[in-house]
Amino acid sequence: MKIRLDPERCTGHGRCYVLAPEVFDEDDAGRCVLKHAAVPSELHEQARKGVESCPEHALVIEETGAVTS
Ligand code: SF4
Repeated sequence: MKIRLDPERCTGHGRCYVLAPEVFDEDDAGRCVLKHAAVPSELHEQARKGVESCPEHALVIEETGAVTS
């Protein structure tokens, strides 16, 4: 799974990294930072929760497949 973050939309209120702390992190300004270039399969459910929680639609799942490497 790959997630795309649109930094123009991210307003930094942190729902994503509160709900999915193993997938998302925050920078010094409280804006979202992706922790994985490709999200490992055991974190897919958590990642979906984080993506769906973003009220700004700043996060998009680009590729849903499991990562094998
Ligand atoms: S929930 Fe959305 S707007 Fe809020 S920090 Fe995460 S990506 Fe940014």
